[in-house]
Amino acid sequence: MVGFGYDVHRLAPGESLLLGCIAIPSEVGTVAHSDGDVLLHAVVDAILGAVAMGDIGEHFPDTDPRWKNAPSTHFVEHAVRIITEAGYRLINLDATLVLERPKILPYKQAMRERMAEICGLPIERVSLKATTSESIGFVGRREGVQAYCICEVQPA
Ligand code: MG
Repeated sequence: MVGFGYDVHRLAPGESLLLGCIAIPSEVGTVAHSDGDVLLHAVVDAILGAVAMGDIGEHFPDTDPRWKNAPSTHFVEHAVRIITEAGYRLINLDATLVLERPKILPYKQAMRERMAEICGLPIERVSLKATTSESIGFVGRREGVQAYCICEVQPA
C-alpha cells in the first residue's frame, strides 16, 4: 500500500527551523504548536495514510496540552508503532521539501540519517529532495514551508 502526506507551516522571524530533526540556521523558523517539523509531519500522515488510520491532527490534536512543544519524532515513532501493531511494516519514504532559503543540501544527509533512525529503516530507503518555489507564492515570499511525503507499507 501507498500513503501520502502533506504539511505546511508558517515561517516567522525569531522561531527555530527544525527540518527532519535537524536544526537549521535561518532568519525565519516555523510557527507551530509542536516543534514545527513540517517534514516529519508529512511523514506521519504518509505512514498513517497507507493504512487508512487517520491523520496527525486526529492522533495529536493541537488543542491537547500534552502535545505542546512535543518533539515530532514522538509523532513519527507513534505512527510506526500503530502500523506495526496493525500487522504492517514500513518499506520506504520519499519526501520533498519546498523552501525558498536556506539551501537544504548541506543538511540533507543528516536529515535522512535521523529520519531512517526514527522510522527503523535503512538509509537507502529514505529519500529526501528539496526544491524552491522559484520566488513564487507564499513559499517564494518566505511566508511558509511545505513538505510532501509518500511511503510504501506492506503486510509484515
Ligand atoms: Mg504540521
